[in-house]
Amino acid sequence: MTAPASDAGAEPGHDPGPLAGLLQRNRSWVERKTRADPEFFARLVEQQCPDYFWIGCSDSRVPATEIVDLDPGEMFVHRNVANLASADDPNFQAALVFAVEVLRVRHILVVGHYGCGGVRAALAPPEPGPIAAWLSPIRATLRSHRASLAGMTDGETACDRLCELNVMAQVAQLAENPALTAAWSQGRELSLHGWIYAIRDGLLKPVCETISQPLDRARPTPSILDVEWLDCNVA
Ligand code: ZN
Repeated sequence: MTAPASDAGAEPGHDPGPLAGLLQRNRSWVERKTRADPEFFARLVEQQCPDYFWIGCSDSRVPATEIVDLDPGEMFVHRNVANLASADDPNFQAALVFAVEVLRVRHILVVGHYGCGGVRAALAPPEPGPIAAWLSPIRATLRSHRASLAGMTDGETACDRLCELNVMAQVAQLAENPALTAAWSQGRELSLHGWIYAIRDGLLKPVCETISQPLDRARPTPSILDVEWLDCNVA
């Protein structure tokens, strides 16, 4: 049975089917936003000038703008499985360059989350296919830290530690990305942050120090391949 267009929020003649509820929720959201701020959408049309670039997991329980209570237009977002900042992913690299060079964001946040299914999958023997290929950077981090993770008797604890290490690895990699080093060489204010989110209580926390300049000036000796030095116990 076709839902009435007025209930579904759809154009006459277009049956939204099982998604009628989403369209109706969209209309209700528009009404609430407009009631609270009549110029809200007019401002958004003008331009987007977010200060933040969020690199997070695709997990549906980690909605980027919602958990930091920001409105549309305030944060540029890239999400993928296990919040990877892969140098060989053109989708991510395009988003990064756009964020840094066009939007000129001031903060880049890599945000992982505990209990990440992508990280957990990287702990299991890989099965050929796109998921295993995508998760190969996490398996590399796992190999680098196998000794310390093996000392954790609780599998969930080891998984959560790997979630943190994965964030640190992405931050370390990003710190040497040409888009960032070029911005820093121009004297731009641009900070790189590594955070993690706990679904059980909704809280975010940093897992490494903030980086605001090229690594060789921020800290003279660490190897970019060893992310342990980034662990600054700021939690
Ligand atoms: Zn995840």
